[in-house]
Amino acid sequence: MASEKEAALAATPSDSPTIFDKIINKEIPSTVVYEDDKVLAFRDISPQAPTHILIIPKSRDGLTGLSKAEERHTEILGRLLYTAKLVAKQEGLDDGYRIVINDGPSGCQSVYHIHVHLLGGRQMNWPPG
Ligand code: IMP
Repeated sequence: MASEKEAALAATPSDSPTIFDKIINKEIPSTVVYEDDKVLAFRDISPQAPTHILIIPKSRDGLTGLSKAEERHTEILGRLLYTAKLVAKQEGLDDGYRIVINDGPSGCQSVYHIHVHLLGGRQMNWPPG
């Protein structure tokens, strides 16, 4: 399997549907840990920490990545972060965790449907790679 970096460099930034649409529509399986009318949180298929969850908006609405954010997206952006906090609590990450949003090829983004990574369950390092 390609490394995350290889996958990111191979991905073309675009508005085309992504694999996350299939997850939202339950066309492919995922392990959902939280869902409401606006957001979905599910376990990453290639976990980089004992807990690795992706939090996504059900409607992408042009938000292929954070760099495409506009004023109208502020509510959903806040909701993604607040959901990350709720899920971290649900997962028992009481000692802390990391939130990551990769953007574009240099940011190592491979799926062009904005998503928040929630990583926890181990000691994180700084700076990130
Ligand atoms: P990005 O590199 O920040 O764009 O993150 C995309 C994430 O989606 C990666 O961590 C992948 O492992 C994850 N991913 C890709 N396909 C699936 C899937 O089908 N289910 C769950 N996670 C996935």
